[in-house]
Amino acid sequence: MTQTIAIIGAGMAGLSAAHALQQAGLPVQLFDKSRGSGGRISSKRSEIGALDLGAPGFLAQDPAFLTALADWASAGSCAAWTAIDGPQPYWVGTPRMSAISRALLGDLPTTFSCRISEVFRGERHWQLLDTAGASHGPFSHVIVALPAPQAGVLLTAAPALAARAASVVMEPVWAVALGFAEAQPGAQHSLRFDDEILQQATHDSAKPGRDNRLDSWVLHATADWTRQHLDLPKEAVIDRLAHAFAERLGRRLPPAQFALAHRWLYAYPARRTDWGALGDQQQGLFACGDWCLDGTVEGAWRSGARAAQLLLASL
Ligand code: FAD
Repeated sequence: MTQTIAIIGAGMAGLSAAHALQQAGLPVQLFDKSRGSGGRISSKRSEIGALDLGAPGFLAQDPAFLTALADWASAGSCAAWTAIDGPQPYWVGTPRMSAISRALLGDLPTTFSCRISEVFRGERHWQLLDTAGASHGPFSHVIVALPAPQAGVLLTAAPALAARAASVVMEPVWAVALGFAEAQPGAQHSLRFDDEILQQATHDSAKPGRDNRLDSWVLHATADWTRQHLDLPKEAVIDRLAHAFAERLGRRLPPAQFALAHRWLYAYPARRTDWGALGDQQQGLFACGDWCLDGTVEGAWRSGARAAQLLLASL
């Protein structure tokens, strides 16, 4: 009999799996260590407004994902950022990236601020243990929807899955948000650099639906530079990236009225795979996330849907 299915991680992959299972009429329970949903598409609340420090936006081509995007767009949770040129629309959450995960979360039962440290199987069911020592369960199945290095340690009951997760290298990225009193003249809204320090700069406050108090930019360092400067104090990271940004724009920047730095230890996988999702169907343990495909928001959504499909096929 199918009891509640535990899903660890309420980012795009976990939410996509939860949604698919709920639509199939199965009960799910999500767990996330953070206070809210979204993971790498969550937004940071700040004194100048919400800031998208993770994925600044994303592309989409999968027909099922495009259908989901059209639904969220008609509910006002996302929009194509038309100021960005390209062969495909560039999607952003509105009024912040996390609006997309909110739309997916709906009324799905979720335990936030709960970091799962162990997943173990009794005679017939799964139990979870969190870092505060509380146990959760019983569950008939478990889906682990975390970045690969965090997933691996929860997959020890299925060594083949744990080994796959352990083989994935995920890249770190320093993100810096800067708020200026005035708009930076002439700068495009989304800049990509072929650079040692800076990977990209996004005009966060110019995205559709934003209401930020200052003109805000989010800068992302390259994975190489971040790896070499993982332990640099945040003030120094802000200085280095702001300086690099000014150099790339070819002019002095006015002093930022606001600045913050955030380190993503697992921003995206170093290499894409074509795994879709991983499953030990006999035991009822599954894994999904962007690292099971191409390291993108769309890949995470597709991977979650694939994990749900594998689980449903095992019933
Ligand atoms: P996550 O979003 O990481 O979700 C995992 C969730 O698990 C998190 O909510 C976390 O809090 C939770 N968690 C972790 N450990 C535990 C635990 N032990 N117990 C409970 N909960 C736990 N993608 C694009 O498509 N385009 C881009 O331009 C782009 N740029 C990016 C730039 C940056 C700086 C970053 C960081 C990411 C970028 N991405 C981009 C990648 C994209 O954000 C991810 O591919 C996608 O959001 C991953 O979703 P996920 O569900 O697989 O993982």
